[in-house]
Amino acid sequence: MFIDTHCHLNFKSYKKDLPEVIKRATDNKIDKIIIPGAKLDTSRKAIEIAQQYGDCFAAVGIHPHHADLLSAADNASDLKNLLTGLIIQPKVVAVGEIGLDYYQYKDCPAIDEETKKRQKELFLLQLELAQENNLPVILHCREAFDDLLNVLKDKNISGVFHCFSGNKQQLAEVLEMGFYLGFDGNITYPQNQHLRQLVESAPFDKLLLETDAPFLTPVPQRGNRNEPAFLVYTAQTVAEIKKTALDKVMEITCSNALKLFRLPA
Ligand SMILES: [Zn+2]
Ligand SMILES: [Zn+2]
Repeated sequence: MFIDTHCHLNFKSYKKDLPEVIKRATDNKIDKIIIPGAKLDTSRKAIEIAQQYGDCFAAVGIHPHHADLLSAADNASDLKNLLTGLIIQPKVVAVGEIGLDYYQYKDCPAIDEETKKRQKELFLLQLELAQENNLPVILHCREAFDDLLNVLKDKNISGVFHCFSGNKQQLAEVLEMGFYLGFDGNITYPQNQHLRQLVESAPFDKLLLETDAPFLTPVPQRGNRNEPAFLVYTAQTVAEIKKTALDKVMEITCSNALKLFRLPA
């Protein structure tokens, strides 16, 4: 059995064939799937799917891309109330995906100081929610590592750095703070030797598998829409890197996921 700890079944890509996608996941030994939110509507959708399918679980959160939701100075408490209403729903196992993202995407407004400030505010608000509700966090961090770590310092919170891609020093810092590391289909891409080196250095007991579907489709499915059934290719690559059996990767990453997200065994 595998657990896909980060899969966006709540996104439009699965609108037409969600039951088939979930069936293929089950057929390929994907026993559980965690669906993170990116905005309020996708958080709601994650909960809806989780309440419909026994093997699915939800995370509620607003991605740093959508930090403009916080732009009106007086709506922070409204937003907090809305998120709390979702977080307390059955089958919500984490707050996520939340974090900081300073990467300059094409055709997007420039990442200026104002944007960074807003992202931090939103991040802090959601960390508070995680602490108040005693939930782990699913962290999204892109080109914002130092700032993110500064915010997290002394927070006493558990969670995962999803789609981890830092350097060795950052890996050490993340582990020092007790966080898990999520790896995705991009570890199978030929050019990503640095990611495979990170997997090699990462302690097995901190490793989680994720697809980030519909994105980051692993080889040999690269080019197609990603889905949880393809998690096995990422698991195989981890087994090769760690020079161990696929069964062992399965067993350890599952027990890590069960522990962090307190999922029913
Ligand atoms: Zn992400
Ligand atoms: Zn994601």
